[in-house]
Amino acid sequence: METVLSGIRPTGKLHLGNYLGAAINFVKMQSHYNCYYFIADYHALTTHTKAALLQESSMNVLIEYLAIGVDPEKATIYIQSHVPEIAELYLFLNMFAYKGELEKCVTFKEKVRKAGQTMNAGLLTYPVLMAADILIHKANQVPVGEDQMQHLEMARNFAQRFNHYYEVDYFSLPTAFNNGESLLRVPGLDGLGKMSKSDDGKSAIFLVDDEAAILKKIKGAKTDAGPTEPHQIKPIEIENIFFLMKMVSTTETVDFFEEAYNNCSIRYGDMKMQLAKDMNQYIAPIREKILDLQANEALVRKVARDGAEKARASAQKTIKEVRDIIGLNSLR
Ligand code: ATP
Ligand code: MG
Repeated sequence: METVLSGIRPTGKLHLGNYLGAAINFVKMQSHYNCYYFIADYHALTTHTKAALLQESSMNVLIEYLAIGVDPEKATIYIQSHVPEIAELYLFLNMFAYKGELEKCVTFKEKVRKAGQTMNAGLLTYPVLMAADILIHKANQVPVGEDQMQHLEMARNFAQRFNHYYEVDYFSLPTAFNNGESLLRVPGLDGLGKMSKSDDGKSAIFLVDDEAAILKKIKGAKTDAGPTEPHQIKPIEIENIFFLMKMVSTTETVDFFEEAYNNCSIRYGDMKMQLAKDMNQYIAPIREKILDLQANEALVRKVARDGAEKARASAQKTIKEVRDIIGLNSLR
């Protein structure tokens, strides 16, 4: 059976992008693969999350995994830092990552643009830690959103270089997974970037958002003055609203507004009201489960404990084998 791995950073609440881009596949895959889903708390440190917030968010992400339907009986759910073997593999893989390629990474360049000189080395080597996350369980399939595509290619490179250098066929090369379709990028409501947890919170729809919050955010989404000619090409912010509608509304609803757009009779206010209503319906069952689980800390702790035990057993096996390959087991 093939192995699946994916994770989410505890940097805030899960949003529709995390769900549709990655986590929805966690649930679909859990009955057919050997699945590992983790909460990426080491990764969260790259953006300097304070301790209390990190703990709270880690718990939250675990709750949200359970709320969307990840089943701890079928998949191994764990907190990344409970498996310190990942940090050791990260160290080994750093020897196979070139400074130049890390600097060329799109997400890194983006962060440099935003953070300038406050950039830390952890951000530069983020793709190496991600490769360690995947290779520690020798995962084959990685359900992720489009923003992770380049990181995944890098993980393949590091694995290949390791195999080549030590003349072994040890690591299999992982591939990004989205049901045979191209990876998804759910846009933010600001019409600019993708939905992100660590942005200001206005452009992302969180799985825990209530009806009023959803309506407020969707009403605030950027639109224009409307089309002036039939079948006009949609500007990006309008394209984004249609994209979200396609995700949560029926085909008839989408077709109705497409037609209205194409014959210039569209009223964005009506479209937003409809989208907010459908979005709320889509999210409500998840939101209710999140709220239920928040009251069951004992269950959440048990899932984390059991998951860590299983994940560590797998990681320890890999690390022992890797140490043997590298030649680090002399005089032991
Ligand atoms: P942060 O802003 O802290 O980086 P994030 O929203 O980008 O948070 P991550 O924890 O970095 O979330 O990513 C978790 C998973 O969600 C990854 O598989 C990533 O590809 C996916 N993902 C994140 N945002 C989107 C999005 N807007 N559309 C599709 N997939 C997404
Ligand atoms: Mg991210």
